[in-house]
Amino acid sequence: MKTFNEQTIFEISSSGRKGYSLPKTEVPQVNPDEVIPKAFLRKTKAKLPEVSEFDVVRHFTRLSQWNFSIDTAFYPLGSCTMKYNPRINEEVARFPGFALSHPYQDEKTMQGSLQLMHELQNYLCEISGMDFCTLQPAAGAHGEFTGLLMIRSYHESRGNPRTKVIIPDSAHGTNPASAAICGYQVVTVKTGKDGIVVPEELAPLLDNEVACLMLTNPSTIGLFEKNIQKIADLLHSKGALLYCDGANMNALMGVARPGDMGVDCMHYNLHKTFTTPHGGGGPGAGPVVVKKILEPFLPVPVIVKEGDTYRLETNCPQSIGRVRAFFGNFGMFVRAYTYIRELGPDGIRKTCEMAVLNANYLRALLKDHLTLAYEADSLHEAIFTDKFLKDYSTGKVTKDGRPIPLKTLDIAKRLIDYGFHPPTVYFPLIVSGSLMIEPTETENKQTLDAFAETVKKILAEAKTTPTLLTEAPHTTPVRRLDEVKAVREPKLRA
Ligand SMILES: *Cc1c(COP(=O)(O)O)cnc(C)c1O
Repeated sequence: MKTFNEQTIFEISSSGRKGYSLPKTEVPQVNPDEVIPKAFLRKTKAKLPEVSEFDVVRHFTRLSQWNFSIDTAFYPLGSCTMKYNPRINEEVARFPGFALSHPYQDEKTMQGSLQLMHELQNYLCEISGMDFCTLQPAAGAHGEFTGLLMIRSYHESRGNPRTKVIIPDSAHGTNPASAAICGYQVVTVKTGKDGIVVPEELAPLLDNEVACLMLTNPSTIGLFEKNIQKIADLLHSKGALLYCDGANMNALMGVARPGDMGVDCMHYNLHKTFTTPHGGGGPGAGPVVVKKILEPFLPVPVIVKEGDTYRLETNCPQSIGRVRAFFGNFGMFVRAYTYIRELGPDGIRKTCEMAVLNANYLRALLKDHLTLAYEADSLHEAIFTDKFLKDYSTGKVTKDGRPIPLKTLDIAKRLIDYGFHPPTVYFPLIVSGSLMIEPTETENKQTLDAFAETVKKILAEAKTTPTLLTEAPHTTPVRRLDEVKAVREPKLRA
């Protein structure tokens, strides 16, 4: 019902309307001021919406239908890996033994949960070629933070925590943010003209103050960092470590292992690679896998297997401590575990192959219509620049008579009218007017064909009726928002 301009729940409120009716209580009523100290009593009544149950159901059901979701349509948001979450994961996460367990339970009564976590850790080590794993971090960025704290502790244990972290200009913004939060100075290494990191640019930046390089492989622009082995050797020769941002592991898993490429520490994003629900600020999980040299610094508690029993070890003197309450987002572990077991080794490899195939298929369909940002084959996503837009115009001019160009944003907004979520745009910054399209392995050929046809159709519209693009979207409750203002000053109340 997108035609309704949905009001806020406060605007729907009508004085005296209720969503419940209860029988008269048999317990004597007390006044709050008889039992609660005056200082804690509110002075004015809480402004709660007064609505019926039906009002609430309709309001929130309508809002939920406005939400674009992977369950409703194609969502090729580059870098984010918006793929289908199999429902069996949900089924298993709701098993009462998992869903009703409590983190304060005695270890002896949660052996199944501990076993699941222990086995998931082992799978994540196996898939990445690493030795140890912690499941605690709650997201990719939190995994970076955890990994960097471990790297810092490692250097500290050798006498000097070091001061610098090197990060390529193609990196996701969380990388420099994590390094800065861990007290490191960020040094940028420029990627070579093929979009990947080259040893010649890196070597001059290396000295004994470099703690690590954070490398995303495949990178945020969908390219395989093929110099990674050489880069690892260079770093190790200076006593520095190689951190891998593993957000794009869906393009490697089952085929190649970062641990075999010289990586010392890596985070996963379970909500990207292993189909745990994603977005909307919900719980994520960013497990970190490390090589043996970093084991002493893992967060506590560490899950230890002794014979057939599992226990939690907290006596780890060099540990960085806890990074998350209890064990992390346990429900996500159940989902990721289920997904890995469901696929098995062959399925994991096939998943990876399909992710790469789909991205390259879309790339091939669109490369003569948009402009490829890089010539090298993509792994999991196809990146285009806005160079092709020089052949288009909005037909409008600025006050001083200069033509107003058509923008990437206009194409993105028009896609919404055709029921597609736009790809990631204007990121990464090193690609002009970037369109970053990540179809993921879960989409079929018909959907990819339909998307490519729609892009072509929009480009045809741009030639004849550019306002269809510049004024898009036409089919949504609100049109072009002032996006900066919408983020900075969200209007949540009437
Ligand atoms: C998504 C992503 C991150 C951040 O992960 P979150 O789980 O959103 O914190 C970091 N690096 C890369 C390359 C990513 O794609």
